[in-house]
Amino acid sequence: MRNFKLLFTVGIIFISCSQNSDNESETTDPIVSRVENRQSIGTSAADFLNNDNFDRLHIEIVHVDTYKPTPGSIDRFRQWLEELTFKTDIQITYKSVASTTIESMNYNKIAELENEYRTIYNDGKTLSLYMYFTDAGSTLDVPSQNRFVLGAVYYNTSMVFFQKSIRLIADKTTLPITRADVETAVIQHEFGHLFGLVNLGSEREGADHGAPDDENHCNEENCLMAAELNFNTGMINTMSSRTAMGLDPIPLLGLECQLDLKSLGGR
Ligand SMILES: [Zn+2]
Ligand SMILES: [Zn+2]
Repeated sequence: MRNFKLLFTVGIIFISCSQNSDNESETTDPIVSRVENRQSIGTSAADFLNNDNFDRLHIEIVHVDTYKPTPGSIDRFRQWLEELTFKTDIQITYKSVASTTIESMNYNKIAELENEYRTIYNDGKTLSLYMYFTDAGSTLDVPSQNRFVLGAVYYNTSMVFFQKSIRLIADKTTLPITRADVETAVIQHEFGHLFGLVNLGSEREGADHGAPDDENHCNEENCLMAAELNFNTGMINTMSSRTAMGLDPIPLLGLECQLDLKSLGGR
């Protein structure tokens, strides 16, 4: 929805804001460069999908101590990456951090925390992905409308997950949808944006499938990248209707999005 575009715009501003500090850190530590991991959303889509520039992927999961993602969701995420990309060498490391005790975080704060928490950056043929699982809410939440942001992306290899909101909605549902299912669906939807979906580097000639009022989400019904999956209610509704039909609750990529990934070098 519109929020994502706002988020995307803010992400671009971050890049220019963070240049100075990046340069400073480079003079003190010339080995670790953060520049490649401070690009805009979707620019590393091909690098995630093919092995031309990077044949290894190192995922660094930083989580607030008691908000570690379930092993089930991370396993499924890894399998999903292996199905869609040519990466076979995927390493995952975990790092626990204390709560910031901040109630609602904006994306400036999240990017600032990344500077402090993230230790893995692109290195040689190894591509790095940073996933932060926070106990804070998003400043874009609208509790009066029961509208909560569950996850977001803000650089080419940076993701944030609002674990308190994810757990709240997962634990509230009486349907056979588990916490791991909700985490998986949110992780895969957000990662879809890092894959360049939709119109974030994934443009194919004559194949515009951006939603009419939201070009960074998909117009195909039930696609993992549909705009309604950006928020809690849409996510749960979609997952519930899938389980009611006897399907796995995790939404799948529609045909157009699958073709986008293929055109960028995916399987
Ligand atoms: Zn989205
Ligand atoms: Zn789609």
